[in-house]
Amino acid sequence: MKAKILLIEDEKGLVITLTDRLECEGYEVMSAKDGEAGYQKALTESYDLLILDLMLPNKDGLDICRDLRTEKINVPIIMLTAKGQLLDKVVGFKLGADDYLTKPFEMLELLSRIEALLRRSRQIKSNTDPVYRFDDYTVIFNTAELVHHNRLIELTAKEFKLLHFFITHQGQVLSRDQLLDAVWEYNSSVTTRTVDVHVSWLRQKLEKDPSHPVHIITIHGTGYKFKE
Ligand code: CA
Repeated sequence: MKAKILLIEDEKGLVITLTDRLECEGYEVMSAKDGEAGYQKALTESYDLLILDLMLPNKDGLDICRDLRTEKINVPIIMLTAKGQLLDKVVGFKLGADDYLTKPFEMLELLSRIEALLRRSRQIKSNTDPVYRFDDYTVIFNTAELVHHNRLIELTAKEFKLLHFFITHQGQVLSRDQLLDAVWEYNSSVTTRTVDVHVSWLRQKLEKDPSHPVHIITIHGTGYKFKE
């Protein structure tokens, strides 16, 4: 599968040159010339790598980097800086950049940095397997995480346990009592109402329209059923 790269850079010539070359290397390249527009793209779409210029109109590279990390977008980022621009490298790394290059740079240098970062992120991904994917969501079992595109969705321990049970019993109608036993383990202080509450919290997190769920479906008079 082609790796998808987002290039946020306002120098037209550089955008053309980089896009051509990266496409020749087999990458899929999207670009944005405006900082804010690029930030929105990175936030809402899924990319394998970001090439991010430091000085940009409307939102600079450091702000983009910091805000993406705050939003738990973990995409690898290479920062581009112009010669003579004062960028404290430590600041860049602190804000979450993975690598940086000073303009003008050799294309081969950029390509090798891209390859290295992609290799690293693929390794991280394969180390966190097994994962389960449905819709635009990825469930990472050994870290108990739910990821939507590149964004981490916080789940409580109980929510994750419930989701896990749903996934491992998908397609089956599960009664509230069954869910209580599996997730709350005969804790006498909880009632079937607790199940409903947790189901509604989960729906808020993984249904596009929680009032019309398509993944965690209510089976009237019985309980719930999970569908991909
Ligand atoms: Ca610039």
